[in-house]
Amino acid sequence: MSGQFPELIPRVEVQGTIRTYRTKDSRYHIKGSQCEDCQEKYYPPREGLDCPSCGSRNLNDYYPPKRGEVVTCWIDDVGYPAVGYTDLPPRTIVVVKLEDGLHVLSEVVELEGEPVEPGTKVNMIIRKHKREETGNWVYGYKFAIAK
Ligand SMILES: [Zn+2]
Repeated sequence: MSGQFPELIPRVEVQGTIRTYRTKDSRYHIKGSQCEDCQEKYYPPREGLDCPSCGSRNLNDYYPPKRGEVVTCWIDDVGYPAVGYTDLPPRTIVVVKLEDGLHVLSEVVELEGEPVEPGTKVNMIIRKHKREETGNWVYGYKFAIAK
């Protein structure tokens, strides 16, 4: 090791930002895996694993469509927010069935805790998720009702 550079001193205050940067590929899109041999799709992605359907290891990244419909909905208003989510009002949490059949858990924006009917069409969008201890905003995908 070079004497020019002293040993690394972990800076705890930037760990969250580093983690956000490293995981940005799966934060800013919905990313799954697809088997090249049997075409089966998986979400979350099966990185480093084999296909449960056919046993193949030929799994590649797969980016599902950004549109779908609400399967079920509930209101997150338990009285205390999830860590980092203090700036936000009660949230409308949904399971969305995407156009290719994958189901994802997310949030519908701009409803401020109002429920949404199953079958409502939604589009994926990028929005603020929460604020880190550093004050930086973490962005990620949510859903908006399709106009
Ligand atoms: Zn397979």
